Formats: sequence, structure tokens, C-alpha cells
Amino acid sequence: MTTKIPVGILGATGTVGQRFIQLLENHPWFEITWLAASDRSAGKKYSEAATWRLSTPIPDRIAALTMNAAAPASDTPKLVFAALDAAAAREIEPAFADAGCAVVSNSSAFRMAEDVPLVIPEINANHTELIKRQKWYKKNGGFMVTNPNCSAIGLVMALGPLHRRWGVEKVFVATMQAVSGAGYPGVPSLDILGNVIPYIGGEEPKLEAESRKLLGTVSAAGIADANIVLSAHCNRVAVEDGHMESVSIKLSKPVTADEIIQAWNDFRCVPQKLKLPTAPEQPVIYDPAQDRPQPRLDRDRGRGMAAVIGRLRPCNLFDWRFTVLSHNTIRGAAGAAILNGELLKAQGYLG
Ligand code: NAP
Repeated sequence: MTTKIPVGILGATGTVGQRFIQLLENHPWFEITWLAASDRSAGKKYSEAATWRLSTPIPDRIAALTMNAAAPASDTPKLVFAALDAAAAREIEPAFADAGCAVVSNSSAFRMAEDVPLVIPEINANHTELIKRQKWYKKNGGFMVTNPNCSAIGLVMALGPLHRRWGVEKVFVATMQAVSGAGYPGVPSLDILGNVIPYIGGEEPKLEAESRKLLGTVSAAGIADANIVLSAHCNRVAVEDGHMESVSIKLSKPVTADEIIQAWNDFRCVPQKLKLPTAPEQPVIYDPAQDRPQPRLDRDRGRGMAAVIGRLRPCNLFDWRFTVLSHNTIRGAAGAAILNGELLKAQGYLG
């Protein structure tokens, strides 16, 4: 008999759902016992419902599981990882929280809600305090926690160690975002091959607002956003996985390149101290090579959970400029949510 914590996955057939299944195979704490997606999938075996697109095979045990409808049932586990598109999430996720589930969501639907924590465990693990304000938590212990947009996560992991020490005042960021960030089938090949699309619906305001919330402070009054001015340009590029971002920053005080690189390389926080299973040993890696990071070469560092930074140099507009890369479906989605689930267990929220 397993002693692991049973978990469910909502949206199990999609791009992020498949990553959950891959990353949770052999997880030391969690075991998938329940899967759901749309009505198109309900009642089928997982192997029939999903068109598997990862390079590792579907685990046999998961392939044989029967897909459920996306509604809470008596066998739904307490912990549910959600990878639904935002419109479906807006309807479905509250029903699970209301039924007493801990919903750890990837979607944007509730990220900016006042009482919903938006969490990167290395950056703002204490924001989970907001859970206690949620009506579901007061009713029956159910709650919702979210992880950020896949482009916010790399940016904020780069800014966090600097903001904490010296204060970040202004940020200019231009993203080069992988096609897998649009889910499957995503952007048509004839639109993206040999091309760059300078528009991703809703992405720029999300990147700006979520970064301020993530770097904000929590108090009895709620979250006070970080006082940082951000300007984001978001582009879709013909890369399979891995979001890259060119960043310029203005800090509150003069700091040297060596001090910045040391702040990144030395950065360790709650997940590393707690030794959470999905936490990378070094969450932020500075690569001194002049032509790194690159998506194909660097996205899997720290098992896809590290933010890899390079090309720190003076900026003619602000103080410093650099490039950051993070894996959009691992650190930017399923891996981030699993790390949030581990944090919630360590903090005692799973009962
Ligand atoms: P996706 O590949 O399009 O998968 C969507 C999933 O939602 C599928 O399992 C689908 O099930 C299910 N679904 C759709 N409509 C539904 C409904 N009405 N009721 C129940 N289930 C429904 O999308 P994705 O890329 O995995 O993204 C999932 C979420 O994560 C989105 O909110 C996205 O913004 C967010 N996210 C994605 C990334 C990324 O890099 N891809 C990164 C961060 C966050 P069927 O197969 O049955 O249709």
C-alpha cells in the first residue's frame, strides 16, 4: 500500500497536464490517482484521450487510468494540480476549492485575485498566508494557490535576489517565447516557421502585473505590490521549449557586476532550505559564456527548474542589462506547480 499523498490533475491531456504526469512519475511524496479533462475525454482511458507528445513514454499505470469529468467527486484527492485554459478554470477551479480541495493552478484566471496567493517558492513562500482569508478555507479547508505566467517566472527569479538586496526601480523586458507556451496545437506552423510574431494576447499586462505582485509584500492588509515600473514586449518565436528574455534594469543604488553575479549564484531560499524534492539545488545560475543562455542548450539545467542568466553588461538606458532563460512548461508551469504543492505540504496546508 502506498503511503504517498494522492493527487489529481485537471487538464491532464494538455501540454502542461502531460508535463505533470512526466514529472510526477516516481515523485517521492505525491502519486497521481485521479485525472480529468473536458467532456471530450471523460470516460476514456488516458492513453486514448491524450495525444502524448513528450519524449518519455506514458507511464503504464497512468495510461490505464479512466478520465473523469472536470467536477469534484467522492474519489477526488485533496490536492489537485490544474492545467486548464483560463475560461474553463474560471468555472471549474472554484468548484473544487468549494469541495475542500487544495487547487494548485497554472491558469491566469485567479492569479491576481486579492486573496489568492501567486507563488514562486524561492521568491515569496510567505504569500501562502493569504490562503487563510479564502472563504473555502474557512468553510472546509479548500483553497486555491496559483503559479505565475511562464514568462514572469524567469524574469522574477532574476529580479528577486537583486530586489531583495538593492531594490529594483525600473525594468524593460523583451521576451522570445517558445511555441509550446501556447498549448497544443498552438500557433499554426505556417504562421511561426521562419517568423516572429510580436503579439501574445494578454501577455504583456500579465507579465507586468504578476511581477509586481510576486515581488510585493504580504501584511494583514493583504499584498502590497512592489513599486517597480515595468515595460514588457512579448514575442512568439519558432523555439519548441524555453522562454528567453532580454532585460534592462535600474537599481536603487550603485552595484557592481560581480556583486550582482554573486547575488544570483548564491541565491538559496525556502525550497532549498526545506529540501523540497522538486527544488533545484541552485535556482539561479549565471553562465559567464558570451553566447549563453540558449533555449536548446540551457533549458534543462536544474532539471528544467533553474533560471539561467548570462550576458550581464552595462546598459545605456538604465544600469544593467542581461539575458534570462527558463523552461516554460517545467519551471514556468508543471514544475512550478509541483514545487508549490511541496511547499504547501511542508507548510502544513494539506492537513
Ligand atoms: P492545452 O494544451 O490547450 O490543454 C488544455 C487542457 O484543458 C486539456 O487537458 C483540455 O482537455 C482541458 N480543457 C479544455 N477545455 C476544458 C473544459 N471546458 N473543461 C475541462 N477541461 C478542459 O493548454 P496548456 O498549454 O496545457 O495550458 C493549460 C493552462 O496552463 C493554461 O491556462 C495556460 O495558460 C497555462 N500555462 C501554460 C504554459 C505553457 O507553457 N504551455 C505555461 C504556464 C501556464 P481535452 O484534451 O479533453 O480537450
